[in-house]
Amino acid sequence: MNVEQYIRAMPKVELHLHLEGSIRPEILLQLARKNGVALPYETVEGLRGWYQFRDFDHFVDIYLAICSALQSPEDFALITYDLGKTLATQNCRYTEVTWTPGIHAKTYEDYLRIFDGIVDGQRRAEEEFGIEMRWIPDVARQFSPEHGDMIARWISTPESKQRGVVAFGIGGPEVGHPPEKFEWAAALAANNGVPCNPHAGETVGPRSIWNAILVLNARRIKHGIRAIEDPELVDYLAQHNILIEVCPTSNLCLSVYPGYDDYPLKALAAKGVPFTVSSDDPPMFNTTLTDEYLHVVQDCELSLEQLEQSVLDGLRHSYLPDERKKAMLTEFQAEFNRLRTET
Ligand SMILES: [Zn+2]
Repeated sequence: MNVEQYIRAMPKVELHLHLEGSIRPEILLQLARKNGVALPYETVEGLRGWYQFRDFDHFVDIYLAICSALQSPEDFALITYDLGKTLATQNCRYTEVTWTPGIHAKTYEDYLRIFDGIVDGQRRAEEEFGIEMRWIPDVARQFSPEHGDMIARWISTPESKQRGVVAFGIGGPEVGHPPEKFEWAAALAANNGVPCNPHAGETVGPRSIWNAILVLNARRIKHGIRAIEDPELVDYLAQHNILIEVCPTSNLCLSVYPGYDDYPLKALAAKGVPFTVSSDDPPMFNTTLTDEYLHVVQDCELSLEQLEQSVLDGLRHSYLPDERKKAMLTEFQAEFNRLRTET
């Protein structure tokens, strides 16, 4: 078994992934047709060509156009089931998926209807493919602080938590929308036992990451890759064991870095910053979780051992209950050992 075969076979975890950004083009076309929604392209090839982003704002425009094709709870059930299947075929065993209720609905009742569909798709995917799925509802930063409070309250209910909500996410455009905007919402969720898992340091640099940590009390950061610009922050992440959820292809597609020569993952890893590898919006970036794992070894020049460590670190920082986390860590380590004997 060579390195590539090993990476394909290894058990995986995915913590930074968006439900709406994971819709395969085939499913998107099917939904758009069913719901009478006009997209700029009507073929898979056309959609792939559409996913060429000028900048982050252009990406958000296309993301919102994709979301317009989602209209009923059944649509959400379909995309959730399909995502579970896609991940399971890559031997992904556990995922925490972000979705953005405020893009699709305005009231608690509508959030619940959509979440009913998501949970239905999740149940079927878990039964059929054995993957475990949990949820990180998020607020888009362009929305108001009051909307953030509303989402935080909704996800803090016992019912939401029982149905697999594990964290409060913050996403969308960073420029002009600092973490402080959702300080109250994050505190509200935290007081109810729901941690904050924001995006930070993708389009705005270290300042945004610092504020995610100090203002939102985040212990896991989506992206966080631009921490490299501030040595003090790099040390802080390592010393306080704060995990960054790294998505290499996403960062290249959205011009956060021009290419792998400049990509700082190896330097961050050398400084002891814990990280996990993720795919963000895989079809939109023409990638998969397996491809991202491959990039880490083949293009970022990290070792297989470092990649394995990143998978175990992802599990350690996951929002799984302690018992389940322990069992999964043991299962993954045993499988790494078994696969090693086949190399
Ligand atoms: Zn993301």
